[in-house]
Amino acid sequence: MENNINWNFDNSYSRLSDAFKEHIKPVAVKYPELVIINESLAKELDLDLSKINKDKLSSLFTGNTLPEGSNTIAQAYAGHQFGHFTMLGDGRAILIGEHITNGNKRFDIQLKGSGKTSFSRNGDGRAALGPMLREYIISEAMHNLNIPSTRSLAVAKTGEKIMRDTLLEGAILTRVALSHIRVGTFQYIAARDKKDELEIIFKYVINRHYPKLANSKNKAIDLLHNVMSKQIDLVVNWMRVGFIHGVMNTDNMSISGETIDYGPCAFMDTYDPKTVFSSIDHMGRYAYCNQPIITKWNLSRFAECLIPMIDENQKKAIEIATEIINTFEKNYEEKWLEMMKKKLGLLGNHSTDKTLILDLLTWMHQKKVDYTNTFCHLMKFEVQEEDFQDRVFKDWKKRWNERLIINNSSNEKSAALMRTVNPLVIPRNDKVEETLDLANKNNFKMLFEFLEILKTPYIEKKNTYKYQIPNENNKEYKTFCGT
Ligand code: AMP
Ligand code: MG
Repeated sequence: MENNINWNFDNSYSRLSDAFKEHIKPVAVKYPELVIINESLAKELDLDLSKINKDKLSSLFTGNTLPEGSNTIAQAYAGHQFGHFTMLGDGRAILIGEHITNGNKRFDIQLKGSGKTSFSRNGDGRAALGPMLREYIISEAMHNLNIPSTRSLAVAKTGEKIMRDTLLEGAILTRVALSHIRVGTFQYIAARDKKDELEIIFKYVINRHYPKLANSKNKAIDLLHNVMSKQIDLVVNWMRVGFIHGVMNTDNMSISGETIDYGPCAFMDTYDPKTVFSSIDHMGRYAYCNQPIITKWNLSRFAECLIPMIDENQKKAIEIATEIINTFEKNYEEKWLEMMKKKLGLLGNHSTDKTLILDLLTWMHQKKVDYTNTFCHLMKFEVQEEDFQDRVFKDWKKRWNERLIINNSSNEKSAALMRTVNPLVIPRNDKVEETLDLANKNNFKMLFEFLEILKTPYIEKKNTYKYQIPNENNKEYKTFCGT
């Protein structure tokens, strides 16, 4: 087929019963126009973009043309949104298929902004160019920061305006994910109270994401352990780079352990554990420092769904699940400490390590210094910051240097370790906004330059410095949901 760019679909989720999804096609758009395509991701997926022209690519990445082998569905799910349980589902996204790479890896290919479905509630099923490019930039940045994330393959304009606060240009993002199965997917099925359906999604997830559990004695217990471990790794990574997801509802937590649903997320500049960017998060539920505890809360909701499969005796099952969930803090603490030690290049163990780390964080908080750039400074990447002349900080550095010597090792080893975990650049809020403003005016030069810098966040490039300095206005930065 001429539209084929080597899609190789095998749509296992669409073969599940109708309890799990709705069969529906994307709503055609007026004037499809490809804005950006991720060529390196296309290569990783073994796609061949050379065969077809831009018009046909535009048509393909807006869903106007459906590739051979696709079987389009909207997935059903529920979720606790800011603590309140709601029935949701893909209200503006359609899974076009599961692509299998030459190496036999399976990826969901989803069009986001593809029109109404039966889950759209009052929404228009559409998305705007700015937020779709924002997801592209940030998800790709996360991936390059070595943080599990859904990926962005393309953004195409629809040629249609959509109504938000003002009229905005419509666009569709092609999202690539290990899967779109969420904690909320389990919640949706559990709420229907049909054990056979729960068994289906449970077996499906083990088969697709945790095949090693196929022979485990109690698969539900082991699944809970595995998902918890992946989520702890994920949130530790977020804390490492100052990422604030912003809307950690259970429908936005992926069972595969990828960061998913880039809505009101943003990166913290000045270190303040209470940082919140989302305009609707009035109580700070999803503040930077609350992310671990919310991860635990969401995992508890996941555990509740697994109860019938943990043990026939409900009381016993709840006890087992509670015991597992209660190991969260200890596991998190350990992994967080290991991560922070890497950020400071600390090899081996010392009884004062945690105090040393906490003292630095306290100083950063009190002096309101930039989180990312403090670690750049410690790695001797000079970023202009008067605060680093502060006496308290200098005293702290003396202690740090003494500690570095204790387990030595060598300074080179410590420095090399730090270079693997402390990014030189993050997608700073003012730079993201500037990029999107220009893109909305049809100027994509900064988008391409920014993406190039974000491709190698641990390596200095010619233009890296332009993206390192935080803007004063970032302190007032606000982000929005449902855009
Ligand atoms: P999100 O905030 O992106 O995680 O979305 C939460 C829920 O709202 C999901 O069920 C989305 O499908 C739905 N949703 C968000 N925006 C729209 C829209 N413009 N039209 C229809 N549904 C939407
Ligand atoms: Mg969502």
